[in-house]
Amino acid sequence: VASKKSASAANKDLRSPICCILGHVDTGKTKLLDKIRQTNVQGGEAGGITQQIGATYFPIEAIEQKTAVMAKYEEQTFDVPGLLVIDTPGHESFSNLRSRGSSLCNIAILVIDIMHGLEQQTIESIKLLRDRKAPFIVALNKIDRLYDWVTIPNNSFRDSFEKQDRAVKQEFQTRLENIKVALAEQGLNSELYFQNNNLAKYVSIVPTSAVTGEGVPDLLWLLLELTQKRMSKQLKYLSHVEATILEVKVVEGFGTTIDVILSNGYLREGDRIVLCGMNGPIVTSIRALLTPQPLRELRLKSEYQHHKEVKAALGVKIAANDLEKAVSGSRLLVVGPDDDEEEMMDDVMDDLTGLLDSVDTSGKGVVVQASTLGSLEALLDFLKDMKIPVMSVGLGPVYKRDIMKSCTMLEKAPELAVMLCFDVKVDKEAEQYASEQHIRIFNADIIYHLFDAFTAYQKELLEKRRAEFVGDATFPCVLNTLQIINKRGPMIIGVDVIEGSLRVGTPICAVKLDPTTKERTPLLLGRVISLEINHQSVQEVKKGQTNAGVAMRLEDPSGQQPIWGRHVDEKDTLYSLITRRSIDTLKDPAFRDQVPKSDWMLIRKLKPVFGIE
Ligand code: GDP
Repeated sequence: VASKKSASAANKDLRSPICCILGHVDTGKTKLLDKIRQTNVQGGEAGGITQQIGATYFPIEAIEQKTAVMAKYEEQTFDVPGLLVIDTPGHESFSNLRSRGSSLCNIAILVIDIMHGLEQQTIESIKLLRDRKAPFIVALNKIDRLYDWVTIPNNSFRDSFEKQDRAVKQEFQTRLENIKVALAEQGLNSELYFQNNNLAKYVSIVPTSAVTGEGVPDLLWLLLELTQKRMSKQLKYLSHVEATILEVKVVEGFGTTIDVILSNGYLREGDRIVLCGMNGPIVTSIRALLTPQPLRELRLKSEYQHHKEVKAALGVKIAANDLEKAVSGSRLLVVGPDDDEEEMMDDVMDDLTGLLDSVDTSGKGVVVQASTLGSLEALLDFLKDMKIPVMSVGLGPVYKRDIMKSCTMLEKAPELAVMLCFDVKVDKEAEQYASEQHIRIFNADIIYHLFDAFTAYQKELLEKRRAEFVGDATFPCVLNTLQIINKRGPMIIGVDVIEGSLRVGTPICAVKLDPTTKERTPLLLGRVISLEINHQSVQEVKKGQTNAGVAMRLEDPSGQQPIWGRHVDEKDTLYSLITRRSIDTLKDPAFRDQVPKSDWMLIRKLKPVFGIE
């Protein structure tokens, strides 16, 4: 049987599909990966599962064994040579495997905890998958936690499910339905995979347990089914290389190395490669192609196995010169005999420069730093949606010079003098410098958290600014005196608000016109310290709010209050004291949202009263 299958694989000449796992923290991504790997290793029957660099390779024979329990329900052909599963769970690795023309991650598994339903990163992941148009399936994990679930290790879901009590089935159905509704709210139609008759429109759900292994055969079966039947075009072997840098790492004895997922073609020792570097394109030659030693040979002196040549799809470590500035998430190209190296250099740099389009050209914005091209792209997309301007972007750890970029914002727009960092290290000296310069650094590995922290900070700044300027934020109002209640110590006047709104804290004046010079001089009566309507204390009185009159108590800290009856009296119209500065303060972002249009109209009307241009 095996020979027939490998023959068919050879005929189709397909490469292994590449799969990655994403979802909210604690949903069981790591455990699921472990389970897929481990059962075979422990059983010992299905050999050939190899730990690669950043990925695990499952040869088709191993998958065939693992999915044997599915035979009762489904047929399967085994056309691909195997399956490559990316080991680093989470959406950073996914976004690094994003497609730029070619699709590197052929299929993704979105893990949802059946007990928790959709969580924040689930939603973020769905958005990412949709933006990248990536095919995916849902693993509805932790089914063993359904109350009274009876386990048959490594069984197919359907067989295990049939053997459960009614109450367990009921609980499963209820939770499944709720999750389907929640997915629909995110714009996704979904269906249990074996009831899904419309693969193009409905996302398939596979119930799993990463602890008992139930549903794992179903998951593997479906991965094969979908990739073989629906993606065979993308899985055709190509002669040209498609490869993505997952990580840049220093390794003892090898210097700086890059971990690469080779999704198509061959890589050979000595190949001339072109890749994107932080400060420009890197052209170098492959010195060594490395994969980890097989488990049983760990006693050997070297941790790595050397290869003269490797074939897609696999994860491999490349040692070469000049890799220090290599950018994670970018492509790696191999220079062929007829290739134009210069053109390829431009090409790889496009991965980085393409992202710089979202940088605000006005030079106003936050500074963004991310671990990889993929996470940078995801973060920039998000900031664009949130309309947060970006002044500058960077990759890798944050150093003092990155903070210095942010410092230019302190003058221009202090609320944007922040660094938004996604999953990166911040250098100690940089941290120190930022705190001296009052640059806030936000560092998170979840985009939402970054955004929440940033918006909370903006609000805090706004409040602070409001508190600082509240004395200058004079809202316009016009008052008629109804009656003087107390001439001094303190002055209390009964007034009627005929325009605008009268607030506690507002400075109140009359305006005197010099008959000869025609000059207008405001005569300050004092600031409002309290307002009362019918002996009820209020903070603010709007025009038309009451016809009972308002008792306005004024405080004069200057001690030069005009004398009622001599300098000012009932015939004077009273105003809030409008100045150039008070108008500018209301225009400040700290207050602008609080000033209604009618107030701006009133200010315009009052400008001539105060002789303001
Ligand atoms: P990750 O953050 O998504 O990688 O989640 P982990 O794989 O680290 O799992 C988080 C926790 O959930 C761990 O304590 C796991 O043992 C547990 N867990 C994961 N999958 C299952 C499952 O299917 N059933 C049960 N009962 N626990 C699980």
